[in-house]
Amino acid sequence: MQDEPVDKEDILKELSELHNLDYDYSDGRILGSMCTEAHPFAKEVYCKFLDTNLGDPGLFKGTKHIEEEVIKSIGELLSLDVAYGNIVTGGTEANIMAIRAARNHARKYKGIVDGEIIIPESAHFSFKKAADMLNLKIVEAKLDDNYKIDVDELKNVISDKTVAIVAIAGTTELGLIDPIEEISKIAFDNNIYFHVDAAFGGFSIPFLRKKGYDLPIFDFSLEGVCSITVDPHKMGLAPIPAGGIIFRKEEYLEVMAVDSPYLTVKTQSTIVGTRLGASSAATYAIMKYFGKKGYCELAESLMENTNYFYDGLIEIGYEVVCKPELNIIAFNHPDMETNVLAEKLEKLGWKVSVAKCPKSIRVVLMNHIKINHIKELLEDLKEIY
Ligand code: PLP
Repeated sequence: MQDEPVDKEDILKELSELHNLDYDYSDGRILGSMCTEAHPFAKEVYCKFLDTNLGDPGLFKGTKHIEEEVIKSIGELLSLDVAYGNIVTGGTEANIMAIRAARNHARKYKGIVDGEIIIPESAHFSFKKAADMLNLKIVEAKLDDNYKIDVDELKNVISDKTVAIVAIAGTTELGLIDPIEEISKIAFDNNIYFHVDAAFGGFSIPFLRKKGYDLPIFDFSLEGVCSITVDPHKMGLAPIPAGGIIFRKEEYLEVMAVDSPYLTVKTQSTIVGTRLGASSAATYAIMKYFGKKGYCELAESLMENTNYFYDGLIEIGYEVVCKPELNIIAFNHPDMETNVLAEKLEKLGWKVSVAKCPKSIRVVLMNHIKINHIKELLEDLKEIY
């Protein structure tokens, strides 16, 4: 830091030059992000709540009430009458909270001290962070030929050390939904905590189902499901950071509670202390503003774009890894290395993402990718072909 104050104008000029180095969602060129530009109304509300701190909820009773209302609304979307949980920074923090709850619950009620978590090979890397921080061993369950968790394999790896089973509703690379109903039954019968990571799919599957899309049930109507991660900052169009963790029972929050002596509440269960109320307020605002109707329209329009892109790829001759269930498509050129194709697209100004399993170009059709961008992308892919 320099010694003397600097003029606001000079600071803003410097910041804006640096900000210009950032890619802009509105160009439609960011193909691999699971985030997108937040809705302007949500951003407006966010700014109004910048000073609120949910780490000390007794001082911000109104904002705490807003967070509770958001959790209630998301819970209702996920078939839960009474929901517990928090709006946190994103899917990573939500997943860490779920695994912490599972570990502490198993420690308290089953005496498991050196626990394991079973995750599918397709799980987001946030579970590796969770296991590392919580001193748990990761046991990976293999995928079947359709890139979903292999249920027989899952049954084989359950042990008396298993503190949680994780399944995904909208995998990071392919947007696929694991056989959650079947896994819920296995978890319930074995009395094992079951967490569903719907960070990506949580704000679209319920709406697509309402619109008649043939997608499986993944929520609390399945008795084995103990917690679900749902991210408002993905398809919910809330500003980042906004992740959601919803628990079926209050005891999952209680087993994580630590004393918080100098605050207005006696205990705290979240990972972070000082925590933005703005994320809750913005999520509350955008959920009200859209309503189920608005989210149904959004989810459907993303799927229409996805299907348009899918048909275009097939017509040119690209090989699509799997029929998309949500708004992600992974594909390859029949005779070209994925990396070579990625480089060609990068040279043409597309910001591409390469999936690992299987190696392929992965496009997440978020709200910033409009039909004109898809047409341009297909033109370029045709040229390359
Ligand atoms: N879970 C899934 C399925 C994801 O796709 C992601 C991110 O893309 C996460 C968790 C982590 O979310 P975040 O980046 O918001 O922490």
